[in-house]
Amino acid sequence: MKKLNLLITAGPTREHIDPVRFLTNASSGKMGRAVAEAALAAGHNVCIISGPVKIDYPCGAEVIKINSALEMHESVMKNFPDCDALVMTAAVCDFRPAKMSLSKIHKSDTTFILRLERNPDILLDISKINKNKIIVGFAAETDDIIVSARRKLEKKKLNFIVANEVGSSNYGFEAEHIKATLLFRDGKNRELGKCKKTEIAKIIVEETEKIAQQELRAT
Ligand code: C5P
Repeated sequence: MKKLNLLITAGPTREHIDPVRFLTNASSGKMGRAVAEAALAAGHNVCIISGPVKIDYPCGAEVIKINSALEMHESVMKNFPDCDALVMTAAVCDFRPAKMSLSKIHKSDTTFILRLERNPDILLDISKINKNKIIVGFAAETDDIIVSARRKLEKKKLNFIVANEVGSSNYGFEAEHIKATLLFRDGKNRELGKCKKTEIAKIIVEETEKIAQQELRAT
Protein backbone atom coordinates (compact mmCIF):
# COMPACT_ATOMS: atom_id res chain seq x y z
CA MET A 1 0.00 0.00 0.00
CA LYS A 2 1.30 3.44 -0.99
CA LYS A 3 1.94 5.78 1.95
CA LEU A 4 -0.86 8.38 1.97
CA ASN A 5 -0.85 11.95 3.27
CA LEU A 6 -3.98 12.30 5.39
CA LEU A 7 -5.32 15.70 6.36
CA ILE A 8 -7.70 15.32 9.30
CA THR A 9 -9.81 18.05 10.90
CA ALA A 10 -10.94 17.55 14.47
CA GLY A 11 -12.72 19.08 17.43
CA PRO A 12 -15.07 22.06 17.58
CA THR A 13 -14.56 25.62 16.44
CA ARG A 14 -14.97 28.66 18.69
CA GLU A 15 -16.80 31.73 17.50
CA HIS A 16 -16.01 34.65 19.79
CA ILE A 17 -18.66 37.14 20.89
CA ASP A 18 -16.15 39.14 22.91
CA PRO A 19 -12.67 38.30 24.32
CA VAL A 20 -14.14 36.07 27.05
CA ARG A 21 -17.28 34.56 25.51
CA PHE A 22 -17.81 32.32 22.52
CA LEU A 23 -20.22 29.98 20.75
CA THR A 24 -19.05 26.39 20.32
CA ASN A 25 -20.26 22.78 20.44
CA ALA A 26 -19.53 19.61 22.41
CA SER A 27 -17.02 18.00 20.05
CA SER A 28 -14.12 16.42 21.98
CA GLY A 29 -11.72 15.73 19.09
CA LYS A 30 -11.72 11.99 19.96
CA MET A 31 -12.98 10.88 16.54
CA GLY A 32 -10.24 12.86 14.77
CA ARG A 33 -7.62 11.50 17.17
CA ALA A 34 -8.83 7.93 16.53
CA VAL A 35 -8.56 8.40 12.74
CA ALA A 36 -5.07 9.92 13.18
CA GLU A 37 -3.93 6.95 15.32
CA ALA A 38 -5.34 4.40 12.86
CA ALA A 39 -3.67 6.18 9.93
CA LEU A 40 -0.30 6.39 11.70
CA ALA A 41 -0.55 2.69 12.68
CA ALA A 42 -1.13 1.86 9.01
CA GLY A 43 2.05 3.77 8.10
CA HIS A 44 0.54 6.95 6.63
CA ASN A 45 1.52 10.61 7.20
CA VAL A 46 -0.94 12.63 9.26
CA CYS A 47 -1.61 16.34 9.62
CA ILE A 48 -4.40 17.32 12.05
CA ILE A 49 -6.11 20.71 11.97
CA SER A 50 -7.83 21.00 15.32
CA GLY A 51 -10.07 23.38 17.18
CA PRO A 52 -9.63 23.79 20.97
CA VAL A 53 -9.73 20.36 22.67
CA LYS A 54 -8.64 18.90 26.03
CA ILE A 55 -7.18 15.69 24.56
CA ASP A 56 -3.64 15.06 23.28
CA TYR A 57 -3.00 14.02 19.70
CA PRO A 58 -0.55 11.21 18.91
CA CYS A 59 3.09 12.16 18.53
CA GLY A 60 3.97 11.43 14.93
CA ALA A 61 1.14 13.64 13.69
CA GLU A 62 1.68 17.25 12.70
CA VAL A 63 -0.88 19.35 14.62
CA ILE A 64 -2.12 22.76 13.49
CA LYS A 65 -4.22 24.54 16.12
CA ILE A 66 -6.97 26.91 15.09
CA ASN A 67 -9.91 28.54 16.88
CA SER A 68 -12.63 29.69 14.54
CA ALA A 69 -14.34 28.20 11.47
CA LEU A 70 -12.75 30.91 9.33
CA GLU A 71 -9.29 29.90 10.60
CA MET A 72 -10.07 26.21 9.94
CA HIS A 73 -11.28 27.12 6.43
CA GLU A 74 -8.02 28.99 5.72
CA SER A 75 -5.86 26.18 7.09
CA VAL A 76 -7.71 23.43 5.18
CA MET A 77 -7.43 25.42 1.92
CA LYS A 78 -3.69 25.93 2.52
CA ASN A 79 -2.91 22.31 3.38
CA PHE A 80 -5.31 20.56 1.00
CA PRO A 81 -2.96 20.61 -2.05
CA ASP A 82 -0.42 18.45 -0.14
CA CYS A 83 -2.84 15.71 0.93
CA ASP A 84 -4.13 12.54 -0.74
CA ALA A 85 -7.19 12.35 1.49
CA LEU A 86 -9.12 14.81 3.64
CA VAL A 87 -11.14 13.42 6.56
CA MET A 88 -13.39 16.12 8.05
CA THR A 89 -14.33 14.93 11.54
CA ALA A 90 -14.47 18.51 12.88
CA ALA A 91 -17.77 19.87 14.16
CA VAL A 92 -17.51 23.27 12.49
CA CYS A 93 -19.85 25.98 13.85
CA ASP A 94 -22.21 26.96 11.06
CA PHE A 95 -22.65 30.50 12.43
CA ARG A 96 -20.44 33.18 13.99
CA PRO A 97 -21.33 36.48 15.66
CA ALA A 98 -21.66 39.11 12.93
CA LYS A 99 -19.38 41.37 14.96
CA MET A 100 -16.93 40.45 17.70
CA SER A 101 -16.63 43.07 20.44
CA LEU A 102 -12.98 43.84 21.19
CA SER A 103 -13.79 44.52 24.84
CA LYS A 104 -15.93 42.51 27.27
CA ILE A 105 -19.62 43.24 26.78
CA HIS A 106 -21.14 44.43 30.08
CA LYS A 107 -24.52 43.17 31.10
CA SER A 108 -27.48 45.44 30.75
CA ASP A 109 -31.03 45.09 32.03
CA THR A 110 -32.49 44.82 28.57
CA THR A 111 -32.51 41.84 26.21
CA PHE A 112 -29.22 41.19 24.44
CA ILE A 113 -29.68 40.39 20.76
CA LEU A 114 -26.85 38.55 19.05
CA ARG A 115 -26.76 38.69 15.27
CA LEU A 116 -25.18 35.66 13.59
CA GLU A 117 -23.63 35.25 10.18
CA ARG A 118 -23.13 32.03 8.21
CA ASN A 119 -19.67 30.49 8.24
CA PRO A 120 -18.41 29.04 4.98
CA ASP A 121 -18.98 25.30 4.47
CA ILE A 122 -15.41 24.04 4.23
CA LEU A 123 -16.26 20.74 2.50
CA LEU A 124 -18.52 22.47 0.00
CA ASP A 125 -15.71 24.89 -0.91
CA ILE A 126 -13.25 21.99 -1.17
CA SER A 127 -15.67 20.11 -3.47
CA LYS A 128 -15.50 23.04 -5.91
CA ILE A 129 -11.71 22.83 -6.30
CA ASN A 130 -11.15 19.10 -5.80
CA LYS A 131 -10.05 17.05 -8.79
CA ASN A 132 -8.77 13.71 -7.58
CA LYS A 133 -8.31 13.68 -3.81
CA ILE A 134 -10.34 11.43 -1.51
CA ILE A 135 -12.81 13.34 0.63
CA VAL A 136 -14.54 11.86 3.68
CA GLY A 137 -17.21 13.69 5.67
CA PHE A 138 -19.23 13.10 8.81
CA ALA A 139 -22.93 13.70 9.36
CA ALA A 140 -24.08 13.91 12.97
CA GLU A 141 -27.86 13.55 12.90
CA THR A 142 -30.71 13.05 15.33
CA ASP A 143 -33.30 11.87 12.78
CA ASP A 144 -33.69 10.98 9.08
CA ILE A 145 -30.05 9.95 9.45
CA ILE A 146 -29.48 8.05 6.21
CA VAL A 147 -31.54 10.35 3.96
CA SER A 148 -29.84 13.53 5.17
CA ALA A 149 -26.38 11.95 5.14
CA ARG A 150 -26.83 10.87 1.51
CA ARG A 151 -27.97 14.38 0.59
CA LYS A 152 -24.78 15.78 2.17
CA LEU A 153 -22.58 13.20 0.44
CA GLU A 154 -23.97 14.26 -2.94
CA LYS A 155 -23.96 18.02 -2.28
CA LYS A 156 -20.37 18.02 -0.96
CA LYS A 157 -19.17 15.45 -3.57
CA LEU A 158 -17.68 13.11 -0.97
CA ASN A 159 -16.24 9.64 -1.58
CA PHE A 160 -18.02 8.49 1.55
CA ILE A 161 -19.73 9.90 4.61
CA VAL A 162 -19.94 8.57 8.16
CA ALA A 163 -23.54 9.02 9.25
CA ASN A 164 -23.76 8.93 13.02
CA GLU A 165 -26.59 9.25 15.45
CA VAL A 166 -26.21 11.96 18.10
CA GLY A 167 -28.51 13.06 20.90
CA SER A 168 -27.86 10.11 23.23
CA SER A 169 -25.17 10.27 25.93
CA ASN A 170 -24.06 6.69 25.07
CA TYR A 171 -22.62 7.63 21.71
CA GLY A 172 -21.71 10.65 19.64
CA PHE A 173 -20.02 13.79 20.94
CA GLU A 174 -17.61 13.18 23.85
CA ALA A 175 -18.47 9.45 24.10
CA GLU A 176 -16.09 6.56 23.29
CA HIS A 177 -18.62 5.00 20.89
CA ILE A 178 -20.58 6.08 17.84
CA LYS A 179 -23.48 4.39 16.07
CA ALA A 180 -22.53 4.72 12.44
CA THR A 181 -23.32 3.79 8.85
CA LEU A 182 -20.89 4.48 6.00
CA LEU A 183 -22.57 5.74 2.82
CA PHE A 184 -20.63 5.51 -0.44
CA ARG A 185 -20.75 7.45 -3.69
CA ASP A 186 -21.86 4.35 -5.67
CA GLY A 187 -25.07 4.13 -3.59
CA LYS A 188 -23.89 1.34 -1.24
CA ASN A 189 -24.27 1.62 2.54
CA ARG A 190 -22.21 -0.23 5.16
CA GLU A 191 -24.01 -0.36 8.49
CA LEU A 192 -21.56 -0.59 11.39
CA GLY A 193 -23.93 -0.25 14.36
CA LYS A 194 -22.58 0.85 17.71
CA CYS A 195 -18.77 0.66 17.67
CA LYS A 196 -15.83 2.18 19.47
CA LYS A 197 -14.51 5.30 17.75
CA THR A 198 -11.15 3.50 17.44
CA GLU A 199 -12.84 0.62 15.50
CA ILE A 200 -14.70 3.00 13.17
CA ALA A 201 -11.46 4.91 12.62
CA LYS A 202 -9.68 1.73 11.47
CA ILE A 203 -12.52 1.04 9.00
CA ILE A 204 -12.39 4.66 7.71
CA VAL A 205 -8.65 4.29 7.04
CA GLU A 206 -9.15 0.89 5.33
CA GLU A 207 -11.95 2.24 3.10
CA THR A 208 -9.76 5.26 2.21
CA GLU A 209 -6.90 2.91 1.29
CA LYS A 210 -9.28 0.82 -0.89
CA ILE A 211 -10.37 3.94 -2.83
CA ALA A 212 -6.73 5.07 -3.21
CA GLN A 213 -5.79 1.64 -4.61
CA GLN A 214 -8.77 1.61 -7.02
CA GLU A 215 -7.82 5.08 -8.28
CA LEU A 216 -4.19 4.03 -8.71
CA ARG A 217 -5.32 0.99 -10.75
CA ALA A 218 -7.56 3.19 -12.91
CA THR A 219 -4.66 5.51 -13.91
O1 C5P B 1 -23.90 19.86 6.75
P1 C5P B 1 -23.21 19.33 7.97
O2 C5P B 1 -22.61 20.42 8.84
O3 C5P B 1 -24.01 18.37 8.79
O4 C5P B 1 -22.02 18.47 7.36
C1 C5P B 1 -21.11 17.82 8.19
C2 C5P B 1 -19.77 17.65 7.48
O5 C5P B 1 -19.41 18.90 6.86
C3 C5P B 1 -18.68 17.32 8.46
O6 C5P B 1 -17.73 16.49 7.83
C4 C5P B 1 -18.11 18.70 8.81
O7 C5P B 1 -16.76 18.61 9.22
C5 C5P B 1 -18.26 19.45 7.51
N1 C5P B 1 -18.53 20.91 7.66
C6 C5P B 1 -17.74 21.81 6.98
N2 C5P B 1 -17.96 23.17 7.11
C7 C5P B 1 -19.00 23.62 7.85
C8 C5P B 1 -19.83 22.70 8.52
C9 C5P B 1 -19.57 21.36 8.40
O8 C5P B 1 -16.81 21.38 6.28
N3 C5P B 1 -19.21 24.93 7.95
